[in-house]
Order: sequence, then structure tokens, then C-alpha cells
Amino acid sequence: MVSRLVLVLGDQLSPNLSALQKAEKDTDIIVMAEVADEASYVPHHPKKIAFIFAAMRKFADALRNNGWQVDYTKLDDPDNAGSITGELLRRAEQHDASGVIATEPGEWRLIEALQEMPLKLHMISDTRFIASHKEFEDWAEGRKELRMEWFYRDMRRKTGLLMDGDKPVEGKWNFDHDNRKPAPDDVDFHGPMQFTPDETVEEVLDLVEQRFGDNFGTLRPFWFATDTGQARRQLTHWIKHALPQFGDFQDAMLNDNRFLYHSIISFHINAGLLDPLEVCEQVEQAYKDGHAPINAAEGFIRQIIGWREYMRGIYFLEGPDYTSRNALKHSRTLPSFFWDADTKMNCVAKTVAQTRDEAYAHHIQRLMVTGNFALLAGIDPHEVHEWYLAVYADAYEWVEAPNVIGMSQFADGGIVGSKPYVSSGAYIDRMSDYCKHCEYKVKDKTGPEACPFNLLYWDFLIRHRERFSNNPRMGNMYRTWDRMDESRKEAVLSDARVVLKRLDLGESI
Ligand SMILES: Cc1cc2nc3c(=O)[nH]c(=O)nc-3n(C[C@H](O)[C@H](O)[C@H](O)COP(=O)(O)OP(=O)(O)OC[C@H]3O[C@@H](n4cnc5c(N)ncnc54)[C@H](O)[C@@H]3O)c2cc1C
Ligand code: SF4
Repeated sequence: MVSRLVLVLGDQLSPNLSALQKAEKDTDIIVMAEVADEASYVPHHPKKIAFIFAAMRKFADALRNNGWQVDYTKLDDPDNAGSITGELLRRAEQHDASGVIATEPGEWRLIEALQEMPLKLHMISDTRFIASHKEFEDWAEGRKELRMEWFYRDMRRKTGLLMDGDKPVEGKWNFDHDNRKPAPDDVDFHGPMQFTPDETVEEVLDLVEQRFGDNFGTLRPFWFATDTGQARRQLTHWIKHALPQFGDFQDAMLNDNRFLYHSIISFHINAGLLDPLEVCEQVEQAYKDGHAPINAAEGFIRQIIGWREYMRGIYFLEGPDYTSRNALKHSRTLPSFFWDADTKMNCVAKTVAQTRDEAYAHHIQRLMVTGNFALLAGIDPHEVHEWYLAVYADAYEWVEAPNVIGMSQFADGGIVGSKPYVSSGAYIDRMSDYCKHCEYKVKDKTGPEACPFNLLYWDFLIRHRERFSNNPRMGNMYRTWDRMDESRKEAVLSDARVVLKRLDLGESI
């Protein structure tokens, strides 16, 4: 009987993957490959590469133990063709295979590469998401604004999560209002469960060190969960010890605490080790058991069935050119301190250093520190996109691009966000203790010690006044500016120009 190839990519490590469900164990051959093309199209963080390769190797072993034939190519295999399509062609010739079954990849680049390949391709939907492309398209059809909140309510109704018949439990859809507490003095959660590397992980770490040791990012210590069993233990540990506080401090940041009450499970969900719906059901159960309050459970579930699904919907709805959008025409080069953390701005230095060490920063660090700075400073959004895609272990284009191009940089012109996420230093000061440890003074609005966020905030608003002054959510900001006396306005803009000039000269600030 003629065999078919079944492609399993590094972020498709789920036993219920649609391609596996379509395959025949007795005759079909699973193809998995660590390839240079995927590992280097942006300079990925070594921890990200190690995580994916280690999880792939373990998943391949689990499939073999389950009776599948798996052709696995390691990165240093001398016959490695270097690309996914190259590997498929090589394996097809080897087995005289009739075609390829693949679950749709999460990136246009790879979808197009598979479609152009001279092999018969059966590409099927990725069913690990709650909304299909068609459902999202139907929801988006004819709407003037694609607001996440409305989509999220449909996902609540569809999944039945936190629902009481057709009404949300406790009478409200969204408890975000309760989830904006500033940083607590003391965090009684000691971060995610950590795992000692086993033999498979150690072997991958050596390979990654040798091949990608010069990339931005610290490889060791490496403690990520790399299989479903470990990821589930980490999740259970987090639900027990941190979920109850998750909501309250979701937006807080601390100088000396990298994880606060966050779950650190995005790598695992995105790679397929955890099923998003199962994760949400566990969190809902914790709420039903009285272990977690509604603002924690609802806040968390909204991130997954709301934001995560919505971001994917936008990526596929908007098409392959999304990552090159630049609505605000920003063109400044990404400052070198995004790579070496060499800046006096403590919030940025801490976020970049943490990113380098952990391949992780939580949402508000990504949005309101590095993202906010890049937007205020007018950095080319494509460069910002490539940075985020490279440095975070959970970054795959379908989720990273709408978060960066859309939510963070407003480069899609307002599809994801109705207004840009910009703030002066005051927001960072309110939500963190970074400013207490900073050489700049957050209270200074002008002068050599003024927080650069304070200066660039106004400069951004004035540069884009024509676009934003009629935005009802931004009118207050412009009214505040208009009330300032002229000499103060001049001082702010002139100090901002000095900061931008220094960036243009490649100087650190
Ligand atoms: C500029 C920027 C870039 C981002 N890039 C990525 C990315 O490449 N990959 C990624 O998975 N997330 C990305 N996010 C979303 C979010 O920051 C991460 O999902 C989150 O920080 C992961 O950490 P956690 O697991 O501890 O999340 P928690 O705070 O514990 O949240 C729980 C889960 O909710 C989901 N989630 C929360 N917010 C979002 C969101 N905005 N979009 C999608 N899922 C969300 C994640 O699966 C996450 O694991 C980005 C956000 C911003 C502002
Ligand atoms: S003073 Fe400004 S630059 Fe320094 S930590 Fe605060 S917000 Fe960041």
C-alpha cells in the first residue's frame, strides 16, 4: 500500500492534531524535522529553539511508543535538507509517498511554501482553536469595528465557560475593572515550576549552544517544561498557588520579580503541549470549587478564549501583508539597547535583561514598557515585529504579529485597538516600582533628568495630532496639552527632539 507523509511541525505537538487524526498508523509516515530555515529566519532566542527541539524530540518518541512510524531529522543530521519543504521532498522520494497531509501552519510564509511544493498536499484546518477561520470571518463580516469584547462574549456562549444558561456567571461578562491593582509589596508565589533537564533536553542544549550560542539570549539555566506531563504539572501548580491572585495583579510589574502571578504557559499552549480549552476548564473548576475568585478566573479565561483566539482571527483575516503595515509611517531604527539592555531607563533595561535571561516578559512589560517605548519613539514596526518574534519563547507569527503590529504599534491603523497604547512614565510608575530604581525622574516633565517616556509621549501625540485628536478616547490628552503654557510646550518638544536625535545617532539614553 502506498504511504503518505504526515507533517508535524514544532508548534503542532498535540496528539489530537487534525493531520494525525486523518492519518493511518499502519501505512503513513510522520515527518518531523529540525531545520535551519525555521531556526534562523529571525535570530530566535536560544531558549526558544531549545524548547521547541526538545519538545519535538519527546513528542516523536511518544508517537513511536504509540505505534507510529516517525522519520525524525535532527538539525545536525548530514542529510538534513535545511527546510520543511526540502525535508518533505527528500522523504517523499525515499518512501515513494503519494502526498502530504498537513495541519495548516500558523504562518503565511510556511503555508505558501507548502502550497508551492511539487507534491500533492492535503492541508487541513488546525482544530486546536475554539473559533475556525470561517467563524471569525462570519463574526467580522459587516462590522465597522472588530472589538475583542464582542467576539469574546460569543466564545463564552460557544464554550459555555463561566456561563449560567445564556447569562454570564455573577451577572457580568468582564471583571477587568478589578484587575488593575498596582504592584503588591510582597508576592507569595515563587514563580513557575522548574524542571531539571533530562538526557534529551541536555543533548538539545549542547546542540543549540553550538549552533545558536551567539544569538541574543541566555540558554542556561534551562528549566522549561518540555512535554505535556510536565506542562500539566506546571499548570496545576500555578492554579493552586497563583491563580487566586492572578486577576488582581495582572497589570503590575516589579523590579525584582519577573513572573508575579502569571502562568508562564503560553509556550506550552502555543506549541501544542497544553490544550487551551482544557486549561480554561481547569481554571473554571477552580472558580466553581471556590478556590479562585471570579475576577481571576474570568480575567484568565478571557486572555485565552478572547484575546488569543481574536489575535489568530485577525492574523488570518488580514492576510500575508499584515506584518508590513505601517499606518503611522514610523521609520526609526530599533535602538541597540533592545539587544544589550544598555540604557539608563530602568524599566526598559529590566524588561530587556529579563527577556534575554528568560525568553519571557509578561504582557504589561511587552505592551507598556518596550512596546510603548518603540511606539513613542517612532521605531519601524517591522523591526519591532522581528524583535518580538525572535526574543520570546511563545512567539509564532499568528499570535505575535497582531499583538505587535496591531495592539502595540498601531501599525494596522486601528484594527486591533481603537486607540494607541501609549503612556507617559506616570503609568509605569503607578503599576511598578521601576521608577524608584531609575536614574531618570518620573516626576520631571522636562530637563536632563526627565523620564524619556514623559517627553516622547507628548512628542508622539503632537506628531500624530491630525490622526488622533478626533478620537473620542484621546480628546482629554489633547485638551491637557492645549492647556499647558507655551514655554512648557516648547521645552517638552525640544527635550524630546534631543532624545530622538540621540537615538538617531545610535547613542544610548
Ligand atoms: C507586544 C506584545 C507581543 C506579544 N507577543 C506574544 C507572542 O508572541 N506569543 C504569545 O503567545 N503571546 C504574545 N503576547 C501576549 C501576552 O503577552 C503573552 O501571551 C503572555 O505574556 C504570556 O505569558 P503567560 O503565559 O504568563 O500569560 P498570562 O498572563 O498568565 O495569561 C494567560 C494566557 O493568556 C493568553 N494570552 C494573554 N494575552 C494574550 C494576547 N494578547 N494574545 C494572545 N494570547 C494571550 C496566553 O496564552 C497566556 O499564556 C504579546 C503581547 C504583546 C503586548
Ligand atoms: S522614570 Fe521613566 S524611564 Fe525610569 S523607570 Fe520610570 S518610566 Fe521608566
